[in-house]
Amino acid sequence: MSHPNDPSLRSFVPVDPASDFPIQNLPYGVFSTAASPTPSVGAAIGDYVLDLAVLESEGLIDLAPAFDVFAQPSINAFMALGPEMWSRTRARISELLRHDNPHLRDNKMLRARALVPMAQAKLHLPIAVAGYTDFYSSKEHATNVGVMFRGKDNALQPNWLHMPIGYNGRASTVVVSGTKVRRPRGQLKPPSADVPSFGPCKRLDFELEMGVVIGQPSAMGEMLTEAQAEDMIFGFVMLNDWSARDIQQWEYVPLGPFQAKAFATSISPWVVTREALEPFRIHGPVQDPAPLPYLKQAQPNNYDLQLDVALRAAAMNEGSRICRTNFKYMYWSSVQQLVHHASSGCAMNVGDLLGSGTISGPEKDQRGSLLEISWNGTEPLELGGGIKRTFLEDGDSLSFHGWCQGDGYRVGFGEVEGTITPAA
Ligand code: CA
Repeated sequence: MSHPNDPSLRSFVPVDPASDFPIQNLPYGVFSTAASPTPSVGAAIGDYVLDLAVLESEGLIDLAPAFDVFAQPSINAFMALGPEMWSRTRARISELLRHDNPHLRDNKMLRARALVPMAQAKLHLPIAVAGYTDFYSSKEHATNVGVMFRGKDNALQPNWLHMPIGYNGRASTVVVSGTKVRRPRGQLKPPSADVPSFGPCKRLDFELEMGVVIGQPSAMGEMLTEAQAEDMIFGFVMLNDWSARDIQQWEYVPLGPFQAKAFATSISPWVVTREALEPFRIHGPVQDPAPLPYLKQAQPNNYDLQLDVALRAAAMNEGSRICRTNFKYMYWSSVQQLVHHASSGCAMNVGDLLGSGTISGPEKDQRGSLLEISWNGTEPLELGGGIKRTFLEDGDSLSFHGWCQGDGYRVGFGEVEGTITPAA
């Protein structure tokens, strides 16, 4: 039988070539409907959600000795079963959806229960987020920010080329796409002010990132090899690491960002598996100086994954594209981030989320934050119709799309969207 990544596979469910969710993808998410309001796990196929809890309860997906794995409000129980079960289950779902498999295709009653039009599905946060860590792994982004704040000669801090820099963020405010984001308040002290004040953020920004979803735990006190780290990665989501630049500027010395990034982090509703991204794996940039031995990579751990950002002001009918870049530019790979994260003996848990860091590319239109796009507010961005932006205003909606382009199909992530509402 052919592999679920085989480009020639077709499903009996119609899938447009421009759809993010062909049979070669099969990402996992959590959904509910008006008729069935209890959230459960599904897989996306074309314009439908395949209800995996129905298939499991009908005995069509066997996860023994585990059971009721998909009748859950998150994919954590499924992730805990491990990479062999991930592969076996994906292969089984693929088999059930193939155009030449009559089992589900010709069972009208079952099909009506198992295939839910996506338009009728409410999508929930797919993972119970155990911990959230955010990295800073794009050399272009770190350089842009460094040039803005420290000048060209000291753009990268001396440690940057030697390890993936990160900080521990908040799991409690990771939300699914579509959740409104309230403008944060905080301590502000612009350089012109003598004393700080407390009030609404005036320099609200987004950060275009990918998030790695960790599906297996590691033991406290243990380090990870490259291969072990890779086996622990279940999949990826798109991630918007909302950032309050003015709060950040005052608070970040000496321990890094705190409230500036703690108020909201949005992720896309579908977790695209590492296995589905396998055909799009490529080498990242050459690392010079060579990383220390524990961070060395024997295989390509980057992905050729296109990313688009659109900004829509409340007065606009549709969003205006403000960035198109690619995940492939990341200097430190997700595998290196995970290896480094565990290198002190830090235990990792099922449901941990690691943000890649803002993804910027070498070109001006590849910048993944307004801080860079507006060059710290000095170069306003034209959105059309006379609307300009340096940072986000109330009512603005940010939307990311991401996909890997195959031959005649794409493995995509759907959308992560968030709209800004006024401060309390
Ligand atoms: Ca970030």
